[in-house]
Amino acid sequence: MNREDFPILKRSWSGRTLVYFDNAATSQKPQTVIKAVSNYYRRHNSNVHRALNPLAEEATKYYEEARIKIANFIGADSDEIIFTRGATEGINLVARSWGEENLKRGDLVILTIAEHHANLVPWLQLKKRLGIDIAYIELKKDGSLDLTKAKSLISDPRAKLIAVTQASNVLGIINPLDKLLGWAKKNGLASLVDASQTAAHLDLNFKELDCDFLVFSGHKLGGPTGLGVFAGKRNILTLMPPFLGGGDMINEVHQDSFTSAEVPYRFEAGTPHIAGVIGLGAAIDYISNLSWKKIIKEEQVLTQYFLKVLSTHPFVRLIGRSDLRLPIFSLVIDGLHPHDAADLLGRAGIMLRAGFHCAQPLHEYLSCGPTLRVSLSFYNTKEEIDYFFEKLTDLYRSFSA
Ligand code: PMP
Repeated sequence: MNREDFPILKRSWSGRTLVYFDNAATSQKPQTVIKAVSNYYRRHNSNVHRALNPLAEEATKYYEEARIKIANFIGADSDEIIFTRGATEGINLVARSWGEENLKRGDLVILTIAEHHANLVPWLQLKKRLGIDIAYIELKKDGSLDLTKAKSLISDPRAKLIAVTQASNVLGIINPLDKLLGWAKKNGLASLVDASQTAAHLDLNFKELDCDFLVFSGHKLGGPTGLGVFAGKRNILTLMPPFLGGGDMINEVHQDSFTSAEVPYRFEAGTPHIAGVIGLGAAIDYISNLSWKKIIKEEQVLTQYFLKVLSTHPFVRLIGRSDLRLPIFSLVIDGLHPHDAADLLGRAGIMLRAGFHCAQPLHEYLSCGPTLRVSLSFYNTKEEIDYFFEKLTDLYRSFSA
């Protein structure tokens, strides 16, 4: 669907059109985003907020308009939207700013065992610094969360925060956030949702989710790299100290003291990624024009087709249940190391990913070793899926001969 909007998808590789199956790592960019970024540099480039010249006012206007657009897109208020370098920085912001103010030795932070390192390492760092404890919600045999265990962890009186991915970048399974966040709220826990994978596939609504913090990276939904969105409830943000210090995040600075700016600027120290923000605004326009309805429908068709073809290849095993999922598939192939598979498929023009996908504890927990990950977007096709399985079968045959 709409492949012609993505210039890179016209590129040929090894004698055929490039097959891009690594969308969970980063998605391709539509022409409108590329144009918005280049147009910004060609016509409006200036620094935001500080200068009083009209060009800077223009840049500021586009930057702040994009903030409003992004806020509307995820059902938040614009002063609840903070631009970061990515989901990773957003989670670090919560750990350092909210965590250091609100957590102490012995407090419990609840994660799932399927978290990306971005939602693990900041908490492990806090464990080292503050002496907090971390508990993991484990999985059932089908890869979904063990909700009985989750409920009992959440009701532990030491529990202060649940930080959970909406869908794992390995399993692709969508987690039942309504239940987890409902229990968390009832027990007085703060909550952080990592929407890095879902933001590109589902119509998110920050207010309806009713979490305290939400993060995602713009580059997985058609925006430029190096730009993330961190949304936080206003009443909590206003109580949080700044994460990074520098220009733009202050009201006043003196030799011995400073006062912080209001939210959201308090959390945006230094010159922001202006072109990235404008580019993400254009990506959101692109998605909105296509409509979630069409995107979700197309991705469902591709998911069902992928699963159907997969079921006719007994030498390939899918990690985790096949329903309630995003178009992200981690695979184990009999007799074929995923690194070899990714390398050789890459030479055939199919770009995908092999390894632990920044989720090593999950792979250790599942005892499955590295996996080969196929992650699709609405612009992929059934023909590409056929080509992938054809090449994978060739590889399997040559390795098992
Ligand atoms: N969380 C999840 C679930 C992810 O898939 C990723 C990116 N792979 C991240 C966090 C981190 O995103 P970024 O590297 O853009 O900060």
